[in-house]
Order: sequence, then structure tokens, then C-alpha cells
Amino acid sequence: MNENIVNFVYLIAGVLFILGIKGLTKPKTAVRGNMLSALGMLIAVVVTLLNMNTIDYSYIVAGVLVGSIVGSIMALRIQMTSMPQMVALLNGFGGGASLTIALAEYYTKLGTTPASFAELLNPVVADSAAFGAGPEGTVALLAIGLTVLIGALTLTGSLVAFAKLQELMKKSYGLPGGPIGNALFLIAALVAVALVVVNPGNVAAMVAVVALALLLGLFLVMPIGGADMPVVIALLNSYSGIAAALAGFILGNTVLIIAGSLVGTSGLILTRIMCVAMNRSLANVLFGKMAAGGETIDADEVYAGKVTSAQPDEVAMLLETAQRVVIVPGYGMAMAQAQHAVRELADAMEAKGVEVEYGIHPVAGRMPGHMNVLLAEAEVPYDNLVEMDRINPTFEDTDVVIVIGANDVTNPMARDVEGSPIYGMPILNVDKAKTVVVIKRSLSPGFAGLPNPLFAMDHTLMVYGDGKKAVVEMTTALNQA
Ligand code: NDP
Repeated sequence: MNENIVNFVYLIAGVLFILGIKGLTKPKTAVRGNMLSALGMLIAVVVTLLNMNTIDYSYIVAGVLVGSIVGSIMALRIQMTSMPQMVALLNGFGGGASLTIALAEYYTKLGTTPASFAELLNPVVADSAAFGAGPEGTVALLAIGLTVLIGALTLTGSLVAFAKLQELMKKSYGLPGGPIGNALFLIAALVAVALVVVNPGNVAAMVAVVALALLLGLFLVMPIGGADMPVVIALLNSYSGIAAALAGFILGNTVLIIAGSLVGTSGLILTRIMCVAMNRSLANVLFGKMAAGGETIDADEVYAGKVTSAQPDEVAMLLETAQRVVIVPGYGMAMAQAQHAVRELADAMEAKGVEVEYGIHPVAGRMPGHMNVLLAEAEVPYDNLVEMDRINPTFEDTDVVIVIGANDVTNPMARDVEGSPIYGMPILNVDKAKTVVVIKRSLSPGFAGLPNPLFAMDHTLMVYGDGKKAVVEMTTALNQA
């Protein structure tokens, strides 16, 4: 196929990716954005395949079939609350794909086809020129080495993130040296990459890059507990993009470079947003120095004798006389699938002349934008969803805040208790409102594993029960009032 045509089609695919990402910035255009990006990828893949002269389509067809079946089953069966695990897994697959592309390219250019794992280590007398002459060869080898490093690290790091979010791995382990141990591992892996660049036939060094990077991925993510996981997922997303872009350099495929760079940079931007939302510096995230759980804080001390509970119909009486109510949703609203019930409660309040807004914390729930997606599904007007920075100053003038299934994102310890694992994480200052109603099933902690002094405050009423059931009962009582 004519190179100019191929590049022109790649350009169109690149434009579709960018339009797709732009569409994803607003709930209204998100579905269309997703379709545009998918179309761009389809066009890119088809043209790439047509452009390859000698190719065995039987493997491609088998791959497409198996991948489509597995992907469709996963997408259909996945619960909204498990989406972060799915993203973590897909990031890992992306990293693994880049890793295998780079290794295949390495062994192909070396002119060896190892038939067994043992043969992977056979020394080879390499012709450096096979990777390109002079600086071109150096750049090609560097791209291969770095793709292997980042791809392998992303693969194991993402698998650990998946295991943690799926609660298959509950404890946190790490290298005894902590961040310094991780840095030493990274340096060792980079030295091994350099050895490959200097002497491409040094297959032992390449195998060392793979092994060190696989272990580094484990050690980077294993110590992370509590509330830092979203940042890690965003960062791994970025890594998988960088690995894909580097794989694009290896294959000389422009559209892979574009797609990888877009994923890499958008992942980094998301990482930055999440860092700010969770008050972690990127350096802390990169070196794996993160907060552990707060198992040491005694819940009994926080709650004993201080918690007041109420029934949904008592809350309805409060709502009837309120002028302004803010609803703060969290992970529990997603678990209870209460978004439609919440909207009906808001409608009932508005019908009685109450001003209702929603306070949205950037890391409420289990994925970025989790609450926005659920509330958009229930057709809550997007303008009523108010971000943390804008809603916080309004709490003092709010009569009632209804916290539904949110916990960590309202925990005043993050603001007031230095030394608490979540200290410094920006929160929704719901405790500043005149009355706070918290709907949850018990006094159990949220994701960060910490007790929440909000529940024991004088102006807080705990409504115990499933989120949906409690909200429906409130609406019924309010409508009857
Ligand atoms: P939390 O995890 O802090 O708390 C959720 C609360 O919901 C729990 O305390 C639970 O209490 C309650 N709950 C569970 N099921 C129900 C139900 N059916 N009905 C009513 N309540 C229920 O959630 P937040 O949204 O406040 O905070 C999110 C946390 O997750 C943060 O720590 C954040 O860092 C982390 N995180 C965020 C991600 C993101 O990208 N948004 C990704 C991964 C983690 P009880 O059991 O008593 O009902």
C-alpha cells in the first residue's frame, strides 16, 4: 500500500482519537467520544494489517475472535463498582502487549528464535547493525530496552492493583528498603538496559531487565494500601501508554506512537488531578512512599456514647423545613444502586421549594467520575453536580447535608488530625452544615479503614440501613408530609 495513503489514514485516526478524548470530557458527549476513538483504532488496525505484505491472517483472526469474546464477556458482566479493577487489568494487558512486542522484535533482529525458556539465555554473537546503523541502532535498542522495562513493570504492577482492589490481596508488603530499595531496583534495571544497548547480544542482560522490571512492578504497588490506589491506577494507565508509544518507535508505526502518547499524557494529567485530590505529591507516588491503613486508630474511642441515630421519617421532617440541602454521594450509593432513588428524593424536595445541589468529591466512589456517571444515568441535571472547591464554601449556609454512602471523602480527620493516614487529603466540609444526615449500614470504615469523627458530632444523625431503602423511605415520608 502507498506509504502516503497509510500515513494519511493514520492522521485521520489520530484526529479521531483526539476528538474522542475531547468528547469524553463531558457526560453528554462521552458515548460519542468513545465511539469516535474506537472507530479511529479500527481504521488504524485495518490499514496496518493491509499494509503488511506477508502476513498469516489465521493468527490474526483467531486473536480477534478470542479477544472479542473474552472482552465482551468481561464488559457485559462487570459491575460498575468493579470498573477500577477492570481498568487495572486492561492497563496490565497493554503493558504485557508492549513487552511481548519489544521482546519479539529483539529476538527477531538478533536472528535467534529460542525454542525454550532455557534457550532465551543462550549467548548470541550479535550484529549491532541489525538494529540500524550508528545512532539509529542505539535509539532502536534503547526503545526496545525501555519498552521491556516499562511494559513488564506495568504488567505486574497492574496485576497487583487488580488483586488489591478485588480484595484478593489484603495485606501490604514491600521491599525492606522501601523507596530506596525500589530506586536501587530501578537503577539495576536501567544498567541492564544500558548493557543491552552497548552489546545487543547480551541476552542475559535483557532477561535481567525483564526479571527486574517484573519484580519492580510488584514491589512498587504491593506496599500501597488505603486511599492511594486511584493515583496508582492513573499512573499505571500512563505507563501503559508510554510503553505503547515506545513500541510504536520500535515498529516504526506512527499511529501507535500517537495513541500511546495520548494515553501516556492523559494518564499523567489524570494522575496529577488525583494527586491534588488526595494530597499526594507525584514524587511520593513514584517512589512508592504512601500512606498505610489506619488500623491503629481506635474506633470505640471515636464513637463510644456519642453517636445519635434517626429514622428516615424523622429526617423527612427536617427536609420539609429546610431551604437548602446538599446531597453528598459516595461508594455506598453505588453499592446500593440508589442513584434513581436519590434523584426522586431531590425531586420531592424541589417540589417543596427546597434548593438541592450535589457535592461531588473527585475520588468519591471507586473510580474517577464514578458519582458523575451514576447521577447522569439517573438524569440528574449536570449543572446540579457541584465540584468540591465550589461546594465547600456553601456548607455553612446549608440546612441539611445528606451523606449517602460516603465516608472517607467527608472525614474531618483529613483536615484536623495531623499524623492521620489521610491528613491533608482535601475533603467535603459537610460538618460545617447545620445538620448532617449520614446514611450507611453501620459504623464500618470506608476504603481507607479509618473511623470518621463526623458520625459522632452533635449535629450528625446516623440513618442506618441500605442506601436505597433509606432514601426511598425518606421520599415516601416527605411526599406524605
Ligand atoms: P468510602 O469507601 O470511604 O465509604 C463508603 C461507605 O459506604 C462505607 O463506609 C459503607 O459503610 C457504605 N456503604 C456500603 N454499602 C452501602 C449500602 N448498600 N448502603 C449504604 N451505605 C453503604 O467511600 P467514599 O466514596 O467516601 O470514598 C472513596 C474512597 O475510595 C476514598 O478513600 C478513595 O481514595 C478511595 N478510592 C477512590 C477511587 C476513585 O477513583 N474514586 C478508586 C479507588 C479507591 P457501611 O458498610 O457501614 O454501609
